[in-house]
Amino acid sequence: MLLLRDAHNRIIRDLRISVTDRCNFRCFYCLPNGEPPLARKETILTFEEIERICEIFVSLGIEKIRLTGGEPLLRRDIETLIEKLARLKVQSSKFKVQSHSEILDGFEISDGENPKLKDLALTTNGHSFPRRAVGLKRAGLDRVTISLDSLRRERFREITGVDALENVLQSIDAAKRENLTPVKINCVIVRGRNDDEIVDFARFARERDVKMRFIEFMPLDSGHGWTRDAMVSAKEIRKKITACFPLVLKNKSRGAETAWQYLFADGAAGEIGIVAPVTEMFCGACSRIRLTADGQIRTCLFSTAEHNLRDVVRSGASRAEIIEFIQTVVRQKEARHTINDAEFAPASRSMSFIGG
Ligand code: SAM
Repeated sequence: MLLLRDAHNRIIRDLRISVTDRCNFRCFYCLPNGEPPLARKETILTFEEIERICEIFVSLGIEKIRLTGGEPLLRRDIETLIEKLARLKVQSSKFKVQSHSEILDGFEISDGENPKLKDLALTTNGHSFPRRAVGLKRAGLDRVTISLDSLRRERFREITGVDALENVLQSIDAAKRENLTPVKINCVIVRGRNDDEIVDFARFARERDVKMRFIEFMPLDSGHGWTRDAMVSAKEIRKKITACFPLVLKNKSRGAETAWQYLFADGAAGEIGIVAPVTEMFCGACSRIRLTADGQIRTCLFSTAEHNLRDVVRSGASRAEIIEFIQTVVRQKEARHTINDAEFAPASRSMSFIGG
């Protein structure tokens, strides 16, 4: 099998696809002032284009695909796309390397079996998830991550602009019922907004048996309201949790995971994950690449440049040409982000566009 390897010797295994730049929430840390100009409809990748691109990526060693957005459940008939992508879990690439000359510079060959997708996941705000869970599972989704930034109804509405805490809580139950597990809950902690709920969230993880993931606030909000003071560090989050619920590290290293993962020392159910892109960056082990809804490859959340795969695909490029394009882009993946450098330049698009 050919694997995608970047110039810093990292193998790319994880593809995150934004299927729409639209969202029905207005989270203050993401999309506070309404939509930035949305991509024109004709620029958005069709399901057939996404399927073709994913098949090629899987043939190059991508093992995990996460559908995100915007809000992915706003993309009409997303179940149909999931059905198409789920086939990549059982069907290895139709295309085999025919000759040595097809082995392009920048790939490595592993002696493994035919490439297959191993994990198909979705990140959602949970608004319409309870009524979609059965169909998503039936279509072939493996698991789901649900965003939840407050356990208090009024505060939830203030943070997201929508009175939907109950939907999100029902989403967690629906995900478990449909075995879309492990259920991960994403929570962005922002000082003065929800940092007084850190312990409540840890208790919630224990009571509901979910993987609670605390995320440091990143400068990716379309309102450019991020400040270092507003960001609550992983260290502070850990300290607050362990004061009430002692934790033990699940693994000695993060590996290619974004989160430090912890179990409760008393053996209670649930897990804690702490994602610290700002204070404990994990770029050295990054295995991710992103595709925006309008078909741009991004090699880092904080990239200031994008690579137009859509035009390559629409130009009638051959499979070999598309592979060569992807390979050239992957080689340019940044060594690390520069949030902590004096010369940090904000990403060219906000999180709702890029897909978290
Ligand atoms: N609409 C879906 C949702 O709400 O989960 C998927 C898209 S959303 C952009 C994906 C994740 O990005 C969410 O869990 C959200 O909390 C996170 N996110 C958005 N803006 C962020 C920021 N400025 N810093 C940290 N995480 C952020």
